[in-house]
Amino acid sequence: MQDCIFCKLVQGKIPCQKVYEDERVVAVRDINPQAPVHLLVLPRSHLENLLALDEAPDLGGHCLTVLGRLARQAGVAEAGFRVVVNTGAEGGQSVNHLHFHLLGGRAMGWPPG
Ligand code: 5GP
Ligand code: ZN
Repeated sequence: MQDCIFCKLVQGKIPCQKVYEDERVVAVRDINPQAPVHLLVLPRSHLENLLALDEAPDLGGHCLTVLGRLARQAGVAEAGFRVVVNTGAEGGQSVNHLHFHLLGGRAMGWPPG
């Protein structure tokens, strides 16, 4: 996907603060953090959003496993944290390349905005 900002990020075409990578996913610091810990886990392959996990059934589970590891690594596992997957227009998705937000380091409100 030529115009996808997260594809460019995965390919090293735009700078990012990478905190983890393996053969399937990359994790980076969000450029506009909404909490003391705000990481994004994104698949290397371009999937538009969560609905596309139908095409890659093991990938969602792998992302969740990585998110748990990153929460521990970031020191927020014990206190608690939040994982968010904004999906589609009403879900608030602004980048159409599947990504999981890991938010932590402060108390989260509910309901979300
Ligand atoms: P969404 O609104 O799609 O759920 O989340 C997109 C997220 O990507 C936002 O939190 C936004 O700050 C982040 N973001 C947008 N562009 C970049 C970028 O170039 N680099 C990084 N690291 N994060 C980005
Ligand atoms: Zn992409």
